[in-house]
Amino acid sequence: MKNYFNKTSNELFNEFNTSNDGLDSSSLDSLRNKHGFNELIESERKSLIVIFLEQFKDFIVGVLLAASIVSFAVGNKESTIVILIVLIVNALLGTIQHVKAEASLKSLKALSAPNSKVIRNGVKIEIPSKEVLPGDIVLLEAGDFVAADGRVIENFSLQVNESSLTGESLNIDKHSEVITDEDIPLADRKNMVFSGSLVTYGRATVLITGTGMDTEIGKIAQLLKNTQEKKTPLQISLDDFGKKLTIGILAICLVIFLVDIYRGLPIIDSLMFSVALAVAAVPEALSSIVTIVLALGTQKMAHEGAIVKKLKSVESLGSVSIICSDKTGTLTQNKMKVKELYIDNSTLKSNELNLSNDLHSFFLNSLTLCNDSSIKSGNEIGDPTEIALVKLASEYSKTEEEIRDSYKRLSEIPFDSDRKLMSTTHKFNSSYRLITKGAVDVLLNRINHIETSEGLRDLTPEDRTIIETANENFSKRGLRVLALVYKNLPAETDISLKDEFDYTFVGLVAMIDPPREESAKAVEDCKAAGIKPVMITGDHKITASAIAKEIGILQNDSEAIEGIEIDKISDEQLKELVPKISVYARVTPEHKIRIVRAWQDLGMIVAMTGDGVNDAPALKQADIGIAMGITGTEVSKDASSMILTDDNFATIVKAIANGRNIYANIKNSIKFLLSGNTAGILSVLYSSVMGLPLPFEPVHLLFINLVTDSLPAIAIGVDKPKGDLLKEKPRKANASILTKDFMKSILSEGVLITIATMIAYYIGLNTGDRHLASTLAFSTLCLARLFHSFNCRGKESILKIGLFTNQYIWYAILTGLALLLAILFITPLSSLFLVSTITLTNLAQIFGLALAPTILIQCYRIIKN
Ligand code: ATP
Repeated sequence: MKNYFNKTSNELFNEFNTSNDGLDSSSLDSLRNKHGFNELIESERKSLIVIFLEQFKDFIVGVLLAASIVSFAVGNKESTIVILIVLIVNALLGTIQHVKAEASLKSLKALSAPNSKVIRNGVKIEIPSKEVLPGDIVLLEAGDFVAADGRVIENFSLQVNESSLTGESLNIDKHSEVITDEDIPLADRKNMVFSGSLVTYGRATVLITGTGMDTEIGKIAQLLKNTQEKKTPLQISLDDFGKKLTIGILAICLVIFLVDIYRGLPIIDSLMFSVALAVAAVPEALSSIVTIVLALGTQKMAHEGAIVKKLKSVESLGSVSIICSDKTGTLTQNKMKVKELYIDNSTLKSNELNLSNDLHSFFLNSLTLCNDSSIKSGNEIGDPTEIALVKLASEYSKTEEEIRDSYKRLSEIPFDSDRKLMSTTHKFNSSYRLITKGAVDVLLNRINHIETSEGLRDLTPEDRTIIETANENFSKRGLRVLALVYKNLPAETDISLKDEFDYTFVGLVAMIDPPREESAKAVEDCKAAGIKPVMITGDHKITASAIAKEIGILQNDSEAIEGIEIDKISDEQLKELVPKISVYARVTPEHKIRIVRAWQDLGMIVAMTGDGVNDAPALKQADIGIAMGITGTEVSKDASSMILTDDNFATIVKAIANGRNIYANIKNSIKFLLSGNTAGILSVLYSSVMGLPLPFEPVHLLFINLVTDSLPAIAIGVDKPKGDLLKEKPRKANASILTKDFMKSILSEGVLITIATMIAYYIGLNTGDRHLASTLAFSTLCLARLFHSFNCRGKESILKIGLFTNQYIWYAILTGLALLLAILFITPLSSLFLVSTITLTNLAQIFGLALAPTILIQCYRIIKN
């Protein structure tokens, strides 16, 4: 049996029942049934049981288990049962949270899954790569991921990087010829492309021969490893904090225990104190709440056009201090339209060409010939710059087919943003011509002749100055300018970069690409938020500066430089320069990396946009690499940590505001949980020092920490932004969340709740009923911590923040209250939770005391502000 690389395209067309027009839609269903989706099957997912059991691996859980054993040993069986139940409930919650966070990440992944361009029924369409089938005709171009294995049937300088499959890091040239050798290694199958490789240059048409597990990468049977999300820096530092806290508390427990024994107290009592203290201190819910809040945050951001691929990035987003953005399409609308032309020494409006003039006619035709875009039944495919040129031809009633059929393309050198040129060759009557379009400044040095109405002649220095002035005049108005040049070739030869010299000048095209309406406001917001917006563009310096001025990025022309100038200076010098520059023009992707590094060396957190295949390294280098969802290449999407579904600069600013809000909310949740825990710890310590009996059973503290405190903590985590998030300076990336001020307010608010709890305890003790006293202390602590959620929504008073601006807090408090009342008044529960019956007067006392700390804190804030 022959291999696909041994077969001709026609043999393959027959074998796969397809043609140059691609698969017929009638065959899709049966092919799908036969071959399934183009996916690698993931290794077995962890079962729910495993995830559930994993929840018990936690250090904190270990402490609690020890506590339950101690409880059992001292004969407190109820406590043991409840601790175990609570641990199981906790593990169940952990499992649900794990599964949910995974589902949320999976849905984000699906949103950022790659697409492929295929021809079906003769029409070029874009489909999710997952839907590619054997027999599909796929169009590949630089920046694409190869979605499945296929045989190259038409090749235009295609180069592919196959390192994911073969480990070979060099780019490989492909061709479309039949290979006759039968047994050759993968790396030598130069007329095949393989799933998972990436197109670095050129383009090709490929007939898909294998999908999913039938591809070479699938055959290696490398079942996809379940990629686990790593913990975010915040989670790591919280875990670390939790561990230190636990160890500290264990040490205190030991001391209390030893002192009590020395004082001659019964061992059982001191043991129970230690257990209660440990349980009170451990912030069981902290880590999961951070994950839940981050996961909910990413969902919201996805709705608003920013797909964040890693939870970690949400945190970094909040501290972004520099946004390096492309111009075209991100700050501008990318709706190019040709405005004016320059030809034969005169500037014309776009509708003033005279097609009976051969020069004008050649100019217009060439703009469509040296061009890969196409407009079919209103469907625009390709680069907007090129689409504008096809549209220009259609305004003169010339269709792209008509022009392209008359002068067939023989070979090409595709556009790339390093060279800033594109070239094609065609046959014109008896001569062969190389037509090139591209950046004026790049081409100007390569022109030796000029076409005028009097015919072809040598280019004079005056001509050069006139062209330069025309270019400058267009650019000053923010127009994007391309030059069109050509040269005659001696014969039909394959062209290479060496041929892009010694040209004849034909004309200039100037097109308008207005800024997006929202850009100016977003730039203003950035500046108010202490974030520096920087424009990095491949376009001309004058064009870029004109647009940058219009939207407020640039005030003074001295803030703009060109990529070439960066080449001349060292990294050290660049570091000194970057704070003074707002516009980088004519840059290549290598410049982008140096600019990012320079800012990072200055301690800044940098967000950078990119869309091309060469942008991937800069996107990876940036703290937040941002890819364009609409115009970006698959490679840039893969390398980025965030994808904009609308390609819009304003969406980046919105995402940063969201990042800041999420971080602020997490900080508030942490404050809520830790100040509550502090109150628990202080109450136990106080009773121990004062020689009072233990105020709470361990189950009481567990109930509060794990049940009633979790809901408000999440509700605080999803709070809406308060005040203007974009009025503050960015947070320092390495700033610890647990600052002195933060700890001080946790402690002071914790003390207030402790006082209320202890008053309730004394009221109970005065009746002589120890159980009642414990019930009152527990209920007051529980309720005071619920009310305390109002204090943790920000630094302002709740009247200013708005009592009803977060309905979830109310639901959380009411749920917590209902659970507390259930424990207090439903008999089987009250005996399980070791609470005694209380009177209505007691209930009023509990409410009054629980409200007091919140009222005091609120009054203090009103007076202070
Ligand atoms: P940005 O980097 O902000 O997206 P850009 O789109 O202008 O800006 P590139 O696409 O790298 O950046 O283009 C750089 C220059 O190359 C342009 O200013 C233009 O002169 C030239 N150019 C752009 N597109 C083409 C094309 N399709 N064919 C030939 N030259 C082009």
